[in-house]
Amino acid sequence: MAAADTPAQAAALPSLDRLLREPALRPLIDTHGHTRITTLLRAQLAGLRQQVTASALSPEALAASLQGEALARQLNRSIAEDAGRGLRAVFNLTGTLVHTNLGRALLPDAAVEAVNRVMATPVDLEYDLQRGRRGRRDGRIAGLLRELTGAEAATVVNNNAAAVLLLLNTLARRREVVLSRGELVEIGGSFRIPDVMRSAGTRLVEVGTTNRTHPQDYREAIGPRTALLMQVHTSNYAITGFTARVETPELARIAGEHALPLVVDLGSGTLVDLRDWGLPHEPTVREVLAEGADLVCFSGDKLLGGPQAGIIAGRADLIAGIDRNPLKRALRMDKLGLAALEAVLELYREPELLASRLPTLRLLTRPLQDVQQQAQRLVGPLRHALGEGFVVDVQATRAQVGSGAQPQADLPSAGLRIRPATGRGGLDRLAAQLRELPRPVLGSITDGALWLDTRALPVEDEAEFIMQLDGLAG
Ligand SMILES: *Cc1c(COP(=O)(O)O)cnc(C)c1O
Repeated sequence: MAAADTPAQAAALPSLDRLLREPALRPLIDTHGHTRITTLLRAQLAGLRQQVTASALSPEALAASLQGEALARQLNRSIAEDAGRGLRAVFNLTGTLVHTNLGRALLPDAAVEAVNRVMATPVDLEYDLQRGRRGRRDGRIAGLLRELTGAEAATVVNNNAAAVLLLLNTLARRREVVLSRGELVEIGGSFRIPDVMRSAGTRLVEVGTTNRTHPQDYREAIGPRTALLMQVHTSNYAITGFTARVETPELARIAGEHALPLVVDLGSGTLVDLRDWGLPHEPTVREVLAEGADLVCFSGDKLLGGPQAGIIAGRADLIAGIDRNPLKRALRMDKLGLAALEAVLELYREPELLASRLPTLRLLTRPLQDVQQQAQRLVGPLRHALGEGFVVDVQATRAQVGSGAQPQADLPSAGLRIRPATGRGGLDRLAAQLRELPRPVLGSITDGALWLDTRALPVEDEAEFIMQLDGLAG
């Protein structure tokens, strides 16, 4: 940039050092330090230089911009703009309750408190207080998981993708894993079972076809290099019509005949029977283990409703091998996640109270009437904020769990439908304006309308939602 300047233009810009000595910048340097202000000022000067080079700035305007007061104002503005750049709270009115792009499960209060407790103080993370020496990092969690799943042993890593990678790398490196073609899953965000297998150093042996796989297909694929049989929960799609699938008990029998372990990637996974709350059945970890799976892995932040985590539960000898794999160290959970997961698992010990304590389950079981009434309360304020250009009404909607849990289970829900008044259009622009609000509002556009599903709008947050709607006018 500077190279393009004529000497006269370059001379018009004072040096950084001189500007930093401007008295008007002194308070900024005192507050934010020399380094930050120098970085910002350098960027500001570069911008001015560009404008000078493009002859977009009169000499008078340049002189005005270089005054101490003007520089300070501009620096203050840059700092204020940067201040809101961290992760921001949003309103999830997309109708997808556990939304991967929006951080999945919302932690219960108990988990937030647990994280707060361990954040800024030393804790007995890997220390055995009784014996006064080094202890096991996920020992307590493993105990809770044994209690809640009936597994012999359990271990935890960073997420379920890591769990799959780690168990394959431990049990099937340089060997073969047999999996049905109907279960070659891709999860959003580039997790594909065949790719994970390759990364784990495992050879995938596909059996059957997309829609039908039979016991014989597995039997014929088993050979001297087979390390294990695998089953993957088809978590974000369903194969219907002319289909055949080998269920877990039968696959466990086949694995047993050949003394091979059966590993089930449950994806979302749940520890409780969701039918107890009137929701569709999802196989629980305990059930799948009882059906004969040797290992089960699942996510912490999907239906479980906890922090990001990957949980492996099952046979003690296999878990011990997994814990000894050096990769485990690279994939381990941090103390914040462990504290949160432990608190969430504690809640599962009192399942009768779960729906009132665990936000994920609370959203799933929220009575439809509540959701409808809330949507009704929002119509007036929204109509007022949007003015003549849009028509707003309350409609029945279908919400989803999301994150690949229960792909076919739609939850009856309600929301606001916003349509452009005749011939005006502007839905995309409105969606963009909603995203620009202090706490961005995310909906979805389908069928010529912008939908705001209110199932995931906590009643406590309703006032904030309504208040900021004023920002839409104008
Ligand atoms: C979600 C999912 C994963 C990945 O889990 P993360 O916790 O997101 O890493 C793996 N397998 C299946 C079947 C899934 O549904």
